[in-house]
Amino acid sequence: MAEPQALTDDLVAANRILYYHKIVDGYGHVSFRSPSDPDHFYMAAAVSPGRVVADDVIALDLDGNIVNREKRPTYSERFIHSEIYRARPDVHAVIHSHSPTVIPFGVTQVALRPVFHSAAFLHTGAPVFDTLAVPSATTPLVNNAEIGKALAAKLGANSVVLMRGHGDAVVAGDIREAVSRAIYTEVNARLQLQALTLGGPVQYLGEAEAAAILQPNLGRVGGILEGRKIAALAEARHVQIAPHLYCGPVVGAANIQLAACCANFLILEGIERWQGFHAEILRRPIRWEEGYVIPPSEPGLGVELDEAVARAHPYNGRALHLQMAERPIVP
Ligand SMILES: [Zn+2]
Repeated sequence: MAEPQALTDDLVAANRILYYHKIVDGYGHVSFRSPSDPDHFYMAAAVSPGRVVADDVIALDLDGNIVNREKRPTYSERFIHSEIYRARPDVHAVIHSHSPTVIPFGVTQVALRPVFHSAAFLHTGAPVFDTLAVPSATTPLVNNAEIGKALAAKLGANSVVLMRGHGDAVVAGDIREAVSRAIYTEVNARLQLQALTLGGPVQYLGEAEAAAILQPNLGRVGGILEGRKIAALAEARHVQIAPHLYCGPVVGAANIQLAACCANFLILEGIERWQGFHAEILRRPIRWEEGYVIPPSEPGLGVELDEAVARAHPYNGRALHLQMAERPIVP
């Protein structure tokens, strides 16, 4: 089972970054879901996060068994990962840590809530999981599938679940986002504690302020330069961008150019597999491998319209694919 080396490199880097930021210590683990087989995920064998290297990375199935190589000691809490992947198809990376400042929020009645923009993902809530509710649990550890299932159920659709007297689990659409969330969950906990000690009511971030991902559409925002400006404004607020695509492959090609020059780029929207008419209308179709677009090296947008194909498919309708309305539509 070959996976893009870049993901394994990200996994190793994630362990080191989280160790540097003291989110993990001798314990804690990071995983990513296989992009080619959603029923498998990758994480290090039982190695301290600060010492993980690429050779430690193993593949596991959703029952927590190693599938790609000889037996190696595994983390006893791998069921945190396997059961969250089973319950949440949208999750592609999971981090478990004993993030120290988060612990008090798991043992008191004070809910962890976002106090600054970098932790806006907390606005849906961070429920507290308690192993005392699971009959087979004898410690606060999530060391079997039953406890993992109960943890995933408590996580629900949120990004973070706290674990009473233990730590937390953070989920995201990819490793980089998960690392960012794990770090900012800890920072938010620290800042919230400080805010609470000052006394008086705390004004938490509201839902309307809590956008974590912007989806500018280059067909609407005014072009590539404007899209880049939006991305820069978003970056300054720790917000990611995922260029939206409701047009054809030319805007798709423009999105690729924008994505390639934005550090806060998250994910690219495609048109199915860029095949069929969307491939024919370009002299050279947009290329991708294993879920990753390969940015073109040709000048301009890197694609060239096939005029003959375009002429052979005239559009005689009057309506646009999506109509602009002069006034906001009130449903
Ligand atoms: Zn743990």
